Formats: sequence, C-alpha cells, structure tokens
Amino acid sequence: MTGRYTEHDHEHYERPRRHTRPRTKERPTYDDARDGTVMTVDRGRFTLLVDGVTVTAMKARPLGRKGVVVGDRVRVVGDVSGTEGSLARIVEVSERTTVLRRTADDDDPVERVVVANADQLVVVTALADPEPRPRLIDRALVAAYDAKMRPLLCLTKSDLADPETLLSTYRSLGVPWVVTRKGGDLAELQGALQGRTSVLVGHSGVGKSTLVNALVPHAHREIGHVNAVTGRGRHTSTSALMLALPDGAGWIIDTPGIRSFGLAHVQPEDLIEAFPDLDEMTEDCPRGCTHGADEPECGLDEAVLRGEADPVRVESFRRLLAARSAPEY
Ligand code: ZN
Repeated sequence: MTGRYTEHDHEHYERPRRHTRPRTKERPTYDDARDGTVMTVDRGRFTLLVDGVTVTAMKARPLGRKGVVVGDRVRVVGDVSGTEGSLARIVEVSERTTVLRRTADDDDPVERVVVANADQLVVVTALADPEPRPRLIDRALVAAYDAKMRPLLCLTKSDLADPETLLSTYRSLGVPWVVTRKGGDLAELQGALQGRTSVLVGHSGVGKSTLVNALVPHAHREIGHVNAVTGRGRHTSTSALMLALPDGAGWIIDTPGIRSFGLAHVQPEDLIEAFPDLDEMTEDCPRGCTHGADEPECGLDEAVLRGEADPVRVESFRRLLAARSAPEY
C-alpha cells in the first residue's frame, strides 16, 4: 500500500462531527456506524458486505461473548474501506428474523446458531447415487420448521431415478420441491430462490457444490476474494458462506460444515406450529401431550377418527416428531 490519503481518509478528516458531539458516559451510540451483513466467519474474523464492499471485521469488546453468525445484520465502525489489511469493528448485531440452530448432538442441549435471517432451507438430496436418506431429510425439515423457515426439497440427479417414490413421502406435508438433473435447466430452482435468502444443506455427493457453482458462476472467485481479504489462506470448510445470486435475485448460503442437525432443543409445540391445521386439532389435548403416536388421548387421533384430519398427514407429522430423537442414519 502507498502512503497517500485515500478518499476514505480525506472524508474522515473533513468531518468534525465526531469531535463536537457531546460524549456520553453511557455506552457509545455509534452514530457513524455503517450497516453490514456477515458473509462468512473464519477464526474470529468476519467478512462483511458493507455497501457492496467486502470488509474484514472483528467483534468490538462490548459485544462480549454474543455470537455473530453468517447472515447477521450488523453495525460496523472503523476502517470499512475494504483495503488489504484493514480491519473494522462490529459494534451491534440487529435482532434476527430467523435463527437456524443445531445442537452438537442430541445429548448436548447447548444451542448453536448456525445462520441468521435466512428465510428458506433448501434440502439438497440426490434421487440416486447416493440413495436418498429420508431420516436425514426429516431431520432437516424439523430444523427448518423450528427455525420458521420455508423448507424446499431440491432433488438432484433426476436423470438417474424417478422422484415420485421420494415425493410420496413428503407430499402430505406440503413440502415444496424442485427437480434438477445433470446439465439441466435451473430455471425452476432459480424461481424458488428468487428474492429469498436460502440456506443450502446436503451431504457429499448429492451435487450441492455443483449447484452452487451453477447458481453463482463466480462463486470460486468470490471465495478466493474472501481469502485475499482475510489473508488467512484457504477458507475453512466448516463455516457457512453467503453468496449473492446474479442480478440481485437473492442470496444463497452454502454450508459445507453442516452434516446434520441436532434437534434436542426442538419442542413438539415448536414443530406443530408449522402445521396450523393440525395445531388447531390439538387444542383439547391433555396437558403435556407430545402429539406422538403413543399418546393415549391426542386430539390428532380424535380428528382422524372424526374424519377431519388426513391420516397420512398426521402420520407424516408424527414421523417428523419422532425424527427429533431418532438416530441420524
Ligand atoms: Zn396431542
């Protein structure tokens, strides 16, 4: 870097506001803070997008142990020029609209927020090679419903198998779905991503990386840029990474590190809220009813008997309920 003043420095020196503003003894107000969004997190360094500029930042001390995750909308002060070696400070984290959580495993009730403010969870599953793993899909759906996110099944490799078998398992739940195939048109998927912030999850071999690269043609370059900014070598594969879809069509968040969702924190009432028609039928359930198949007086069973509830839908809901504590394979 040269020693000349950058435009940013110049602007900074000509603005006397910082010095004339009365200082409060309370916590600072950060009037000059800028808005940013967290794109990725790498060993305590945050890559933010601030007015279209990629900025590296750290957490300011007042935030303490408060977590900052991908998707968080933050207020940032300090050097937001984005030049190499610059470091800004995150001073505030805005209230989150959604939180996608996981627990380390089902025996560990400690919640970990993985992504904030996303509105859709895209479960990428191959129809064959590797075979679909319905238990894992169920668990991802539970995580989505718990997070108040819209689930979307993205079924890849439709040239290898008919999606109908798998879809029959999810149709009664009303889970939206799209199908892709090798070298095929992505218009349907792009339509489902339009205007949303979507988290993509999926196991290795299902074609998630291929999709990300097809959706964001410069994904590799962007990731390379992130590395250049952090100056810390390769992007660690465990962190989520937020990428802009071309033409302002929305955002996707790739999650290379998420292999599974621990669901120990999900309560039956969190899950059933995602199905208002079923929720309504549980109003007269005994106190503490989990609405599971082994509950003696569950309103869902009564609704099925009265012909008011679709038995397949109730059964599917109960499968998701059971997925909270079932093994992951
Ligand atoms: Zn019940």
